[in-house]
Amino acid sequence: MIEDGKRKYFRLFRDELERIAVRPVRLMEVCGTHTMAIGRAGLRQVLPPQISLVSGPGCPVCVTADADIDSFLGLAKERRVTVATFGDMMRVPGNEGSLADFRAAGADIRVVYSPLEALELARSNPGQEIVFLGIGFETSAPGTAQAIIRAGREGLKNFSVYNLHKTVPQALQVLLDDPGQALDAFILPGHVSAIIGEAPYRFMPEKYGVGGAIAGFEPTDILAAIARLVKDINSGCPRITNLYGQVVRPGGNTAAQQILAETFEPCDADWRGLGMIPGSGLKLRPRYAGFDAALKFGVSRAPAKVRAGCRCGEVLKGILRPVACPLFGRTCTPEHPVGPCMVSSEGTCAAYYLYEGGKAHAS
Ligand code: SF4
Repeated sequence: MIEDGKRKYFRLFRDELERIAVRPVRLMEVCGTHTMAIGRAGLRQVLPPQISLVSGPGCPVCVTADADIDSFLGLAKERRVTVATFGDMMRVPGNEGSLADFRAAGADIRVVYSPLEALELARSNPGQEIVFLGIGFETSAPGTAQAIIRAGREGLKNFSVYNLHKTVPQALQVLLDDPGQALDAFILPGHVSAIIGEAPYRFMPEKYGVGGAIAGFEPTDILAAIARLVKDINSGCPRITNLYGQVVRPGGNTAAQQILAETFEPCDADWRGLGMIPGSGLKLRPRYAGFDAALKFGVSRAPAKVRAGCRCGEVLKGILRPVACPLFGRTCTPEHPVGPCMVSSEGTCAAYYLYEGGKAHAS
């Protein structure tokens, strides 16, 4: 719903976009926080019809493969450890239930607000094994790295991380390699870019002729990014533009990059919808292998078993609008999610359900 005060301002933007969008363009907002901001402000409704804005794989919980979710849930269910996780993960459904279900059945699962809080749990409960679930992109991985480094310095033996961190640029490359995508440009994630800077995206214009704009999260930031991208497409000069300079430095956050480099090395990672992407994961370096919960507790990867009927994979690639999923709003709602895209605070299906008429569509 667009507030009255903003309506006039958005109309001015729409007039400008109408004027400059001389051909159909397909843009992708990569980041789940952008997807939520777009939905909340009703931006899709103010865009002229020649601009199509699709949502991408930028919700870390949503892109976590079913096999990884089931493997981790198996560890939680066995109750050998205390699990510390962000609240976002609690209701994500696995094939045998969710963390919330296992907690209701007696498993020790704690919601924390940072990896350092999980570390504190380990310090204050020396007789208990604390496993932190490390999910997220370059934005949250430095926090996990910091906790591991501190645990190493303190010689903590009862702290470990079930590590599922991923990196964004490799996923963009997979989308660009997909001939079915036909994307003209990307709205790039502000928070991830604050860590990695601009350089990791340069392959997009150089190799694929596709540009991107790093954007903040206010509706006007997003509309400005759309206008910038359309102008660049018109000019035939795709490039990476940083429109979030107050937060994103060209070289990113070098201190965070150093922490990441000390703790992690690249590995292949399985993404829901995109499959196994070489070099898109972060695995603990050998010197920190003692903090790897999967090694420590001998967790073997669960068989890949996609939940029946769930089409999150297509939603995450931007090739299916959530409302086109037959389960949307019927058997799948935020109260009873079938897939992670409906339950995560950055999930595309949740954004459509809450803000883009999905609730009405469902009823
Ligand atoms: S509506 Fe539900 S089942 Fe369908 S894609 Fe979204 S999360 Fe998956």
